[in-house]
Amino acid sequence: MAKFCIFCGNTPDKKNKEHVIPQWLSKFTGKYHSVCRLGGVPQRDITFSALTFPACTACNEKFSILEAQSKSILTNIMESKPVTAWEINTLMDWFDKIRVGMWLGQLTLESKVDAVAPKFHIADRIGKKDRFLMIERIKTDGKGIALAGIDSPIFTDMPSAFQITINDFVFTNASEYGLVSEKLGFPKFHKIKFHDDNHEILTVDKGRNKTKHPIIPMYTPANTCTLIYQPMYPGLRSIQPNNPFDVPYVQQHSLDAENGRGGIFLQKKDNTVRYLAPDQKINVTPKEFATGGLVECAMPTYELQGYILEHLYDLKSAHPATQQFCQHAIAMNKWRIQNTMQAYGIKKR
Ligand SMILES: [Zn+2]
Repeated sequence: MAKFCIFCGNTPDKKNKEHVIPQWLSKFTGKYHSVCRLGGVPQRDITFSALTFPACTACNEKFSILEAQSKSILTNIMESKPVTAWEINTLMDWFDKIRVGMWLGQLTLESKVDAVAPKFHIADRIGKKDRFLMIERIKTDGKGIALAGIDSPIFTDMPSAFQITINDFVFTNASEYGLVSEKLGFPKFHKIKFHDDNHEILTVDKGRNKTKHPIIPMYTPANTCTLIYQPMYPGLRSIQPNNPFDVPYVQQHSLDAENGRGGIFLQKKDNTVRYLAPDQKINVTPKEFATGGLVECAMPTYELQGYILEHLYDLKSAHPATQQFCQHAIAMNKWRIQNTMQAYGIKKR
C-alpha cells in the first residue's frame, strides 16, 4: 500500500503528518497522552499524540486555517456563546474533515485501503454534499473524547455519519447527496444510482420552495438538542437543463449560491425550521442535558447510517455483490442497535 496524503490523495512530499483528531482537541479533553480506544481502531497502543497520517506540507498548512477557525467556533458553542451562520458553515467543513479523516485513518490502520480503494480524500469531500449536525449535552464525570459510528461496516465503505463526544458535548454529523435538500424546499434528489465504474448518478427535480417535516425521520427536535441542516449543491447547477437550483428560493436561502453552498437551517424544540441570515448570531448550545448516557446517544448514528444507504441510494441499481454487501451492512447496524438497546435496557426514543 502506497503512502498517500490524507487531504489530497497524492504521494505526500517530505514527512509531514496530520493528526486526524487535532492536537488541540486531544489536549483540550485531557487525552493527548492517552491511548486511544476509538471504535474500530484496533487495540494497539496508539496515543492520540501519535494518531497521525501522511500529508503534504502545503495541504497541512492550508487546512490549519480551517482548524484554527473551528477551534474557536467549537469553543464558543461549548461556552454557550452565540455563533453566526457563516461560522456554523465553517464548523460543518470541519466535521467533514474529521469524519473523512477518521475514515481514511481507520482504513490505513486496519490495512483496508487497497480493499476499499477510497474514491475521495478530505479535500474532495469538504462541503460537497448536504450536511447535518446535532448538538447534545450529556452529564459526564469529566473530560474525554469518544467516537461512535466509525466501527460499522457501512462506515468502512462510506463515511456518511459519525458521532464525536467532546467532554460533555455530543456532536452527531452526517453528509450525503439529498439528505436534507428536498425537505428544506430545495430541489429533490432522486435515489442515487450506482454506476458500473463506481460513480454515482444523480438526478434532481425542482423543489417545493418550502420546508416539510420531518427533515430527518430519526431526529426529533427537543430542548436537549439543536438540529442544524445545510443543503449543498456545488457543481450541480450545470448537471441538467432548466436547472432546478436556479430559482429565487434557493438563491435567497443560500450562503453562496454561486458555489453551491446552501444556507444554515436550525430546528429547535417548537419544530419550526429557521433559515439563518448569513451574519445572524445565534446560540446553538442546548439548554438541557440529554437523559441517556453515551451508549444511548450513539444509537441514532447507526440508524442514520442505515437510513442513508437504504433510503438515499438505489440499491437495485448496484452490482449484485454490492447490493448484497449493502444489505448485509444495513442488517448489521439494525442488529447492533437491537442488541445494544436490549443489553443496556434502552427504550426507543
Ligand atoms: Zn496533499
